[in-house]
Amino acid sequence: MTPILEQIKEQLPRGAKLKDILYEGADIVLYTENAEFLLSAGTTIRDIVGKIKKRVEIRAAESILESQEKTEKLVKELAPAEAGIRDVFFEPEFSKVIVHAEKPGLVIGKAGELLRKIKEKTYWTPEVRRAPAIDSDIIKAVRAMQHREADYRRKFLHKVGERIYGPKNEIDWIRVTALGGFREVGRSCVLVTTNNSSALLDCGLSVSAHHLSKPYPYLEAPEFNIQKLDSVVISHAHLDHSGTVPFLYEYGYRGPVYCTRPTRDLMILLQMDYMSVAQREGKKSPYTSKGIEEMIKHCVTLEWGQVTDIAPDLRLTLGNAGHLLGSASCHLNIGDGAYNLLYTGDLKYQNTKLFDKADAELYQRVEGVITESTYGDGTLPPYDHGEEKLRTLAKAALARGGRVLIPCFAVGRAQSMIVTLMEDPEITVPVYLDGMIWDATAIHTAYPEYLSRYLQGQILRKQKNPFIDPRLKGIGSGEERRAVLTTSHPCIVLSTSGMLQGGPAMEYLKTFAHDPRNLLLFVGYQAEGTLGRRIQKGWKYIPIEGRDEGLELKLEVQTVEGYSGHSDQKELMAFIRALKTRPKKILANHGESMKISNFVRALHREFAVETSGPKILETVRLR
Ligand code: ZN
Repeated sequence: MTPILEQIKEQLPRGAKLKDILYEGADIVLYTENAEFLLSAGTTIRDIVGKIKKRVEIRAAESILESQEKTEKLVKELAPAEAGIRDVFFEPEFSKVIVHAEKPGLVIGKAGELLRKIKEKTYWTPEVRRAPAIDSDIIKAVRAMQHREADYRRKFLHKVGERIYGPKNEIDWIRVTALGGFREVGRSCVLVTTNNSSALLDCGLSVSAHHLSKPYPYLEAPEFNIQKLDSVVISHAHLDHSGTVPFLYEYGYRGPVYCTRPTRDLMILLQMDYMSVAQREGKKSPYTSKGIEEMIKHCVTLEWGQVTDIAPDLRLTLGNAGHLLGSASCHLNIGDGAYNLLYTGDLKYQNTKLFDKADAELYQRVEGVITESTYGDGTLPPYDHGEEKLRTLAKAALARGGRVLIPCFAVGRAQSMIVTLMEDPEITVPVYLDGMIWDATAIHTAYPEYLSRYLQGQILRKQKNPFIDPRLKGIGSGEERRAVLTTSHPCIVLSTSGMLQGGPAMEYLKTFAHDPRNLLLFVGYQAEGTLGRRIQKGWKYIPIEGRDEGLELKLEVQTVEGYSGHSDQKELMAFIRALKTRPKKILANHGESMKISNFVRALHREFAVETSGPKILETVRLR
C-alpha cells in the first residue's frame, strides 16, 4: 500500500471496519462495513482532506448495502413525482445508485436533504443526473457500457491512482512538442513531457482535403512513446481535436482520457459518424468501433473548474472555452506550481446565445500559453449581426412560398441556428433537422448547465427550451426525408454536411435548386475545394456524378457571417490580457502559417514577451 493510503488508514478511528481503500483516479474512496461510521464520518473525512489536500470519500462496503429493489422503491417514494425519475441504475462496484431525472434538483432536495435520506436509509451513495429532454442513443450507450464495465473501471481507476501517487522526482525539465495542428488547422495534438510524466493535449484528425495523405498527428515522432503516456486531455469534441483518440486505444493505450461529459458524448457521436462515412465511401478508417468502445471505458469526466491530478507532476483544470458544448481550455499545474501552462483549445471570448464567453479568470497563475489562432490576424463580425440577417433572409424566402436549406455542422452551428430560429415567433413553418443534427441536439438537452446563462434561464426557469420546440422535426429515416422532399410547403431544413460535401444536404439541394423562390443559406466557413465554396463563388451549374445532366442552381444563395465559435485577434488578445497573471511565453497554434506569423508579431507588440509559432515536430522547452 502506498504511503498516502497508509497515512489515511492511521487516522481512522478504531471500529471504522474498513473493507477497502481504493483510488478512483486522483480521488480516494474508503469502503466501510460499519454503517454507523459511514453516516457519521463527516468530521473525520474533513480532517483527513485538510491534511492531505486530496478528495476523499466514504462509501458503504457492498456487504451492508440495502437490496436494489427496496432502494429503487424508496428513491421513488422519497422524490416528488414532479422530479420525473426516468431510471434508477445501480453500480454495486462503486456502491452507487444513479438516478436519472428530468428535474435533478428535486431529487437532490434542499441542501442535499433527499440524497442524505437515501444514504441514511439504504447506505447506497446516490448520484443524480439529468435525463435528456430528447432521448439520446449515444448517452444511453455510454451509460450501458459504463455499467457493464464497472468492475473493469474500478480496477482501472485504482491503477490510475497508483500511478498518480507513485514515485516521482523533483521537477527538472518541461517540454512541449508540436505533433499536429501547428501552422495549420486540423489534427491538433500537443505532447507535454516532464522528467516524470507525459500527456497529450488533444489528439485530432485532419478532415480537410489537402491532408488526406497524412490526416493524423505525428505519433511516430521519437518524443512520443505510447507505452509511457500517462493521460490524454481533450479540449472539445470537434474531430480536429478528438478524432484520433480511438486510434490510440487500438494501438494499446490503456490510460485515461479526460474531458467534460458533453465532450465525451459529442466526440463519440462524431467519431462514429466519421467511421461510418469512411466505410460507406470505401475509405480506410483509422479505427473500428472497438477503439471507440475502449475509449469510452477509459473516459474520466471532469467539470469546469474541478482540479485533478492526472500524472505524478501534472494537475489539470478545465475551464469554459465558449466554443462548443462542453468545450474547455486546459490548464496544467506542473510540478506543484513550478510552471503553469494554459492550452486554450478553440476559444470564443465573446458571449453568444449558446455559450458564455471563455473563462479567463479561473486560473490563478499562467506562465505559458498555447493559443489558438484561427482568426489571429483578422476581425470577425459581431454575433448579433448574424442573427438579424439570418431571420430576415429566411422569412423573406418563406413569405414568397420558398423553402430554405441551411447546410451546417451537426454540432454547434446547428444548435445556434435552432436558437436563432426558435426565438422568432414569426417563423411558424416546420424546421427539419436531418443528418446527425437531431442526435447532437439531444445531447445538448442533457447538459443545460454547459449552455449560456441566458439559455439556462430560458430553459430552467422559464420552461422555454428552444431545443424541444414543437416546430422542430427530426428526420430519422429515408422515408421521412422523402416526405419532406416531396412537399411543396414552405419549410426550413437544417442538414449536414456543412460544406455540401455529401450528406443529406445534397438531396435537399438537388430538389430545391430549380425554384428561384427557394434559398440556400451558408452560415459557416466553406473551405477551399468544397462544393459549398464553389457555389459561394457564384457557380450556377454543378455537374453531378453518374448523371449526364448537372444541376442548375436557380435558387437564391446567401451567406451569413458572425456565427463563428472562434475569437478574432482583438478577442484573443483580450482573453490573454484578462488572465490573472501576465504569461512569460506565448506559443500560437491552430492557424494557417501566414496568419500565425502575423499574430505572433502582434502578440509580441502587445505583451512584450517571448512569442512564437512553432512548426510541427518542433519542441519548446518551458523549463
Ligand atoms: Zn473546434
